[in-house]
Amino acid sequence: MEFKIAIGPQFEGERIRKDDLFIEFGGPKVKAKAELATIKKMDEVEHGKIEIIGPDIKDLAEGGSYPLGLIVEVAGTELDPDMEPVFERRIHQYCNYIEGFVHMAQRNDIWLRISKDAVKQGLTSLDEIGKVLIYLYTSELPIIERVAVTFITDAQKVENFLPSALDVYKARDERVRGLTEEAVDEFYGCTLCQSFAPTHVCIVTPERVSLCGAISWFDGRAASKIDPYGPQFVVEKGELLDTEKIVYSGVNEVVAERSMGTNDTFCLHSLFDHPHTSCGCFESIAFYIPEVDGIGILPRDFEGASVIGIPFSTMAGELSGGKQVEGYVGMGVEYLRSPKFLQGDGGLRRVVWMPKKVKERVKDSIPPEIFDKIATEEDVNDVDALAEFLARVEHPVMAGEFS
Ligand code: SF4
Repeated sequence: MEFKIAIGPQFEGERIRKDDLFIEFGGPKVKAKAELATIKKMDEVEHGKIEIIGPDIKDLAEGGSYPLGLIVEVAGTELDPDMEPVFERRIHQYCNYIEGFVHMAQRNDIWLRISKDAVKQGLTSLDEIGKVLIYLYTSELPIIERVAVTFITDAQKVENFLPSALDVYKARDERVRGLTEEAVDEFYGCTLCQSFAPTHVCIVTPERVSLCGAISWFDGRAASKIDPYGPQFVVEKGELLDTEKIVYSGVNEVVAERSMGTNDTFCLHSLFDHPHTSCGCFESIAFYIPEVDGIGILPRDFEGASVIGIPFSTMAGELSGGKQVEGYVGMGVEYLRSPKFLQGDGGLRRVVWMPKKVKERVKDSIPPEIFDKIATEEDVNDVDALAEFLARVEHPVMAGEFS
């Protein structure tokens, strides 16, 4: 199969700087964006079909940021619905195989950048990206027999598509709730982001969704069955070494091996002691605020500065790249719903600030006695005001509950 542009794993990890950028789809400047992989019946997928609804790359003004809905429909006699999120995450991997094309983040946070060089070499149509995706899905995952790809770039149509994608993400997230780490024999690991963060390993448990928020424990299980030698794999739990911060010997062994010895201990539910590493795809950040001895939550789509005066992009630079950075951890927003959320540090009782949108999303998981004590951007916009707010509402951090 021949393409106008070069493809291969050697291009994963490529960056496209502002000066080299032709256009981008999604990202922080664009409200409506989402990607979705769906499994269909064999007769519902016309193999090889690529549809572009709205303007194509060549029709868009250089330097612009545009909405995008990216839908990958797959079919195969042995596919089951558990596999959808796994196939969806492969959009990230396969797009990054394309020279001069970078895919970041996931779900309704996607950010895709096309370089000027790629356009010069012939990447003037989304059709070319569709062809690469179809080729890679069927050659790398033989279980997939048919693939069709749709790109929606018409702004109104992306807006129309977004709610249906959000419903699918929500249903997937709800599925794993109630399952505990104690109830399963194995966890799952993912190293798909090592192209950007070579020492990063995601450990996915029933009570700790992946950093990108796109891989749950069920998805890890499905992925490891589809492709046992692929980026998602089984992690035997081993012995429970710490019941507070949750340290398992099997997790430590896998982390040591897959991070090439850089890290040898993961406290699965702590921000302060050997926290989970962070790649660059995390949906949100949990960060320590020493002035009040509390924890803040900053999601990728939050506009402007957090309560400590630092925006997401700057903070993300501090903790990304596969490092363990005490006081910071990248996380899926869904992790806030986990009964084990940072349990080694005080859990949700220690959270002092999060944007209103996140607070609303996880409302039913926040203990009622703490809900009104967590400040949002509507209550405070700096640390001094936060301290006053916490004192006024008698937040547990002010009573020294965690010191
Ligand atoms: S954030 Fe983690 S689970 Fe998600 S793709 Fe990257 S390594 Fe895999």
